[in-house]
Amino acid sequence: MFIESFKVESPNVKYTETEIHSVYSYETTELAHENHDGSYRWVVKPKTVKYEFRTETRVPKLGVMLVGWGGNNGATLTGGVIANREGISWATKDKVQQANYFGSLTQASSIRVGSYNGEEIYAPFKRLLPMVNPDDIVFGGWDISSMNLADAMARAKVFEIGLQKQLRPYMEHMVPLPGIYDPDFIAANQGTRANNVIKGTRKEQVQQIVKDIKEFKVANKVDKVVVLWTANTERYSNVVVGLNDTMENLLSSLDRDEPEISPSTLYAIACILENVPFINGSPQNTFVPGLVELAIQRNSLIGGDDFKSGQTKMKSVLVDFLVGAGIKPTSIVSYNHLGNNDGMNLSAPQTFRSKEISKSNVVDDMVASNGILYEPGEHPDHVVVIKYVPYVGDSKRAMDEYTSEIFMGGKSTIVLHNTCEDSLLAAPIILDLVLLAELSTRIQLKADGEGKFHSFHPVATILSYLTKAPLVPPGTPVVNALSKQRAMLENIMRACVGLAPENNMILEYK
Ligand code: NAD
Repeated sequence: MFIESFKVESPNVKYTETEIHSVYSYETTELAHENHDGSYRWVVKPKTVKYEFRTETRVPKLGVMLVGWGGNNGATLTGGVIANREGISWATKDKVQQANYFGSLTQASSIRVGSYNGEEIYAPFKRLLPMVNPDDIVFGGWDISSMNLADAMARAKVFEIGLQKQLRPYMEHMVPLPGIYDPDFIAANQGTRANNVIKGTRKEQVQQIVKDIKEFKVANKVDKVVVLWTANTERYSNVVVGLNDTMENLLSSLDRDEPEISPSTLYAIACILENVPFINGSPQNTFVPGLVELAIQRNSLIGGDDFKSGQTKMKSVLVDFLVGAGIKPTSIVSYNHLGNNDGMNLSAPQTFRSKEISKSNVVDDMVASNGILYEPGEHPDHVVVIKYVPYVGDSKRAMDEYTSEIFMGGKSTIVLHNTCEDSLLAAPIILDLVLLAELSTRIQLKADGEGKFHSFHPVATILSYLTKAPLVPPGTPVVNALSKQRAMLENIMRACVGLAPENNMILEYK
């Protein structure tokens, strides 16, 4: 059964005018390696840590500024939100289609609340904690192309014509602000698009982005802004001692106008200086060590990298299932072809390399979790191919072959073929990223013994469900398995309202 909303009543939860306060017992384990009769053994001890969570309940008016606003993702997301807000419907070959938020974890998925009279009760995910309603978001942003959003939507060729016609009046006055352009970082084939660029030194460009954010806030009367990079994939920037390896070096490189600071890093510096969350939806290493240090020092949220939308999402489900079932994937080969501007940009070797790196580590945690199947250091063959085929446009093809070793030396090969508009996969993920980033800035926590409440670590691992190569604080494990990432997010949100983590034991019926 599905219920629309619920309220938690518990001695551990207090609702005040402004916040939800919960006291939470975190059940975990502590491991030790000890000497026992001359040999080492592992000892595992259960451990309970008391936590307190404080969630501010006032939902702000949110502005979202997209870098690459006029791209396929930017135009698709902006149009999709307007269509939802305005209740737009349009005729397709099959039916009259209503706008919806399918594909969004926060807007279109549900959580299990409990059992009632022998039935499982579910509620919308978004009812766990007060969240911004996406219909209320004000969009803005930058693009190196000056095309207005209505024309950009037409260029993207993602939405049906009947929808485009209705959206046009809302979008034709939306024009991106000039962006930071450095042809050294994206493919040469993007040059013809770049007619809307910020002039000046890199430091002046950062100052311009800071000014843009301030002006956007005032002009749109928004309480908070989140910035998200959905611009072209850049090549990796070189991480060099003295250049970008520490916060001080990065900032003095900026003063010296060093050419190896990428545009995405420049936008991120501006956001951190302005204490505005910055999320990277592309694979490049925007978050060079000096930038991560700057974000930590200023306690400003950063998250990334690369939207986990299609093929990789499937991989982080399928390999988790296979390895979890005691089956040994030995070869994973992924082909993609796509014909949108992203595909054209990725046809250059340096930008493709960024994507290849971001797609490569996605099965590492699952492989490392099973020493029965894999020797230490052993890894399945894993190859990713991306080709640009203009005719298919935004309708990306992803073909995957998984070969695994099964019982008694047998082999099992699974082949998948997915055809889907890339931007229709990415847009709801962008929405989730900005909504969850905003929410996480309203949560404070404190473990037993800690004097003061503090926010989550500025490197936002809470967003990892939505990213291909989750950015984590130094010294933190990377979790790629999709079910674990979802459970982490859901259980943290449950903790904020004093609910136990979903353990799926259903002991009531055992
Ligand atoms: P797109 O090429 O249609 O849009 C990118 C936009 O960014 C363009 O309008 C371009 O003019 C603009 N741009 C480039 N450099 C800029 C800069 N420095 N400042 C401001 N604007 C700039 O691409 P898309 O299909 O919208 O994808 C965007 C990004 O998202 C790509 O890097 C892609 O790899 C990444 N991504 C997409 C998906 C997906 O499913 N669609 C999944 C994962 C990652």
